[in-house]
Amino acid sequence: MLNKIFDTHAHYDDEAFDTDRDILIRSLKESGIINVVNVGASIESCKKTIEVVRQYDFFYGALGVHPSDTAPLTEEDMKWLHDELLNDKMVAVGEIGLDYYWDEPSRDIQKKWFVRQLELAREVNKPVIIHSRDAAADTLDIMKAEKCHEIGGVIHCFSYSKEMAREYLDMGFYIGIGGVVTFNNAKKVKEVAEYVPLESIVLETDCPYLAPVPNRGKRNSSINLPYVVDEISRIKGIEPDEVINQTYNNALRLYRI
Ligand SMILES: [Zn+2]
Repeated sequence: MLNKIFDTHAHYDDEAFDTDRDILIRSLKESGIINVVNVGASIESCKKTIEVVRQYDFFYGALGVHPSDTAPLTEEDMKWLHDELLNDKMVAVGEIGLDYYWDEPSRDIQKKWFVRQLELAREVNKPVIIHSRDAAADTLDIMKAEKCHEIGGVIHCFSYSKEMAREYLDMGFYIGIGGVVTFNNAKKVKEVAEYVPLESIVLETDCPYLAPVPNRGKRNSSINLPYVVDEISRIKGIEPDEVINQTYNNALRLYRI
């Protein structure tokens, strides 16, 4: 049986795909990748996401600005994002959030635009894709204050503890799991994959980044997702087919497709 896999988080607009983007994307269905959400991270990559989504019928898009790219944002950008998000093929606001791994932009700027983009999600009535790195407490505080259980969405590339996962599950959020779960040293992510019910997990690549073992360090693509499926099925002691089918249905529910 051919797989039916949903990649809920990819960056096919990235320059890493400039040499073979079209051939690669057209080959995805042969590998059982039948839907992809291409995720914007800057205004520039949101424009490219709109193009990619227009070109491929099995692609959907998410539009939003990653915390590291928030410094130049203006209210005009919010207006533009708002209008583009009204398109039915744009299924989420993201990726948005906080990233304290880097010192710039300042935490105040990151927080301001995180809150503003949560408001944007409310305005267009779409779920959010959250990026949170080294910022667990502030992310949770803001999401509680902004009543994110009413907005819904996914915590992408989840890298925190199971206790933190519990908080997001209680908010009705999905947990995005990708290549990191296959890394030998990713004890915490493996624990989270075991702890979180399959009904709340979605598959993601974050490609071109975070390729799973045995391709760790190489350019990632959705074609590698079966390695992530195998690791989740090993950890949970269930069949790979069950992981594929359930996460596919979860993705449809997450993005309200
Ligand atoms: Zn991403």
